[in-house]
Amino acid sequence: MKNRFYMDKARAVLTHIGSYVIIVWHIFCGGCSQAETGELVEESRLLLHTFIEIKAWGEGARQAIQEAYSEMDRVNALLNSYDPNSEVSIINKNAGGAPVQISAETMEALRLAKKFAKTTEGSFDCTIGPLVTLWGFDRDFPGLPGREPDHKALAAAKGLVDYRELKLAIRKKDGSIKRTAMLAKPGMWIDVGSFSKGYAADQAMKVLKQRGITQALIAAGGTICTAGSKPDGSPWRVGIRHPRKEGSFLTVLTLQDKSVSTSGDYEKYYVKKGKRHTHIIDPRTGLPVEKIQAVTVIADSGVVSDILSTALFVLGPHEGIQLVESLPGVEALLVDQQGKISYSKSWPQKTIIY
Ligand code: ADP
Ligand code: MG
Repeated sequence: MKNRFYMDKARAVLTHIGSYVIIVWHIFCGGCSQAETGELVEESRLLLHTFIEIKAWGEGARQAIQEAYSEMDRVNALLNSYDPNSEVSIINKNAGGAPVQISAETMEALRLAKKFAKTTEGSFDCTIGPLVTLWGFDRDFPGLPGREPDHKALAAAKGLVDYRELKLAIRKKDGSIKRTAMLAKPGMWIDVGSFSKGYAADQAMKVLKQRGITQALIAAGGTICTAGSKPDGSPWRVGIRHPRKEGSFLTVLTLQDKSVSTSGDYEKYYVKKGKRHTHIIDPRTGLPVEKIQAVTVIADSGVVSDILSTALFVLGPHEGIQLVESLPGVEALLVDQQGKISYSKSWPQKTIIY
C-alpha cells in the first residue's frame, strides 16, 4: 500500500508495505514546473524492498528512465538476499563450501563493503546477517516473538560475523576474468541492506548519463543521488527528515552531483519491554545500537553515502566525524539519543532545527 501527501512546496513521500514504514524522505522542487523546464519525467516504483523515484530532464528522458529501472532490476537480481537465485544468496548458501563465481557488479559492491569494513575496523560489516536474524530484523515485520537472545546465542552469532572471512578473488586466465566469493564458515551470511540501494541507484544514474541525461535525481529508500542541477540551474534541494517529528525537517540540503543517505532508528524497529530495538547492530557487542537517532552522510556516490550512514550509526559522533574528516568529499550529520547534533567541519547547511 502506498500513501502520498503533499505539503506546501515540499513533497513528502511516505511508503508503506503493509503497516511497515520503510522510509520517509522529502524532496523540494520549488520553482520548477513542467512548462519552464521542458520535458520533466518522473516515475516511481516499488523495488529493492523500498520506494524508488527517478526524475530526469532532457531529450529521451522517458526511455532513459525505463532503462535505468531495468538496470536496477538487474542489480537487484544479483544482490537481493531475499531472492534465492541472486548471486549473494548463492554465496550465502555455499558458506563454508566452495567459492562461487560472481559478476563484476557483485564483486564491486562487495569489495567496497569490505573496504569500509576494514576502515571502520568491523563496526560496519556486511557479514552482519547472523546478528540481523538473531534480533528479528531479517523480515519485513521485525520483532522477536520469544525472549531476547542470551549470552550463548549472542556469542554464537557474533562468531559468525567477520568481514575478513568473506574471501573475494579475481583471476585472469586465457584473456578472461574470473571473479569468485566465498564465506569461510558455515552459517555466515552476507546482508546487503546497508548498501544495495545506494549501489543500485549509482548504477541507474550511470545508465541515465550514458543516455545523455545530465540533470536527474534518483531516490532509493534512504539514499538520494543527484546529477547536475535542476533545469533552472539551481541545485537540488533535499529535506532531511526530523528523526522524531514526522513531517518536519531537521534541515534542507542543496546538492549538485552528490549523493546523500540517511539511516534512522525510526526506519525499522520494534519496542520490547519499553525499549526501542533498531535495525543497525554493533558487531562488537552484538546488540542493536541505542545511542543514535539518525545519521545523514553526503558523498560522491550513493553506495559510499549508504555504507557510511550505517557505519557512522555504529561508530557514533566522536569516531564517526573523525572518520569523515579523513575522507575527501564526505560530510556527515549525527543526531544522538538526546537530540544533540554533531556535524563535520564542512557540513554545508548549518541551520539545523531539532
Ligand atoms: P536502510 O535499509 O533503511 O536504508 P541502512 O542503509 O542504514 O538503512 O542499513 C541498515 C541495514 O544494514 C540493516 O537493516 C541491516 O540489514 C544492515 N546492518 C545492520 N547493522 C549493520 C552493520 N553494523 N554493518 C553493516 N550492515 C548492517
Ligand atoms: Mg546505509
